[in-house]
Amino acid sequence: MALRRILTNEDKALHKVCRPVTDFGDRTAQLLDDLRDTLQDTKGLGLAAPQVGILRRAVIIMDGEQLVEMINPEIIQRSEEEEGLYEGCLSCPGLRGYLKRPSTITVHAQDREGNWFDLVCEGMTARAACHELDHLDGILFTDLVDEVIPEDLLDQWLTELEMDEPDEDQDEMSPEDSAESEGTL
Ligand SMILES: [Zn+2]
Repeated sequence: MALRRILTNEDKALHKVCRPVTDFGDRTAQLLDDLRDTLQDTKGLGLAAPQVGILRRAVIIMDGEQLVEMINPEIIQRSEEEEGLYEGCLSCPGLRGYLKRPSTITVHAQDREGNWFDLVCEGMTARAACHELDHLDGILFTDLVDEVIPEDLLDQWLTELEMDEPDEDQDEMSPEDSAESEGTL
């Protein structure tokens, strides 16, 4: 097990465009294993190689309970329908921003042996994939949102909102759900 240090947004490596992975041998396998160990040590749903300082196009995401490795990934299809959420990032601790992402996307990527596959991602998995793929182009969610909000302030706002509407029907996703750690990618 090897944990790597997750870089934070002041680090220049997070703002660079990553190069394609061309090696499908031990080095890439080791990187993917380390990304998995590092992610499992957090509450995040995905991690990109540049977040641990490796400027190569490799990410991992959680698709439900399953971990998916994506090398040289590209989004080949995205739904017009979008979902909004207060998103966070392991490289931007304590920060959130409201961001709309497509509800469904299809990613074309390689596995660690170099085999190409297509994966249809929905909901949080689609969000995680979009977020991690952005990292490969040096884009953080803070570059995309209108406003970056401190996490504790957001929690406070949403709690106050809840208190204002105590009888609100909970069928819809409540604002409180949006603030849970599952939005950290
Ligand atoms: Zn991130």
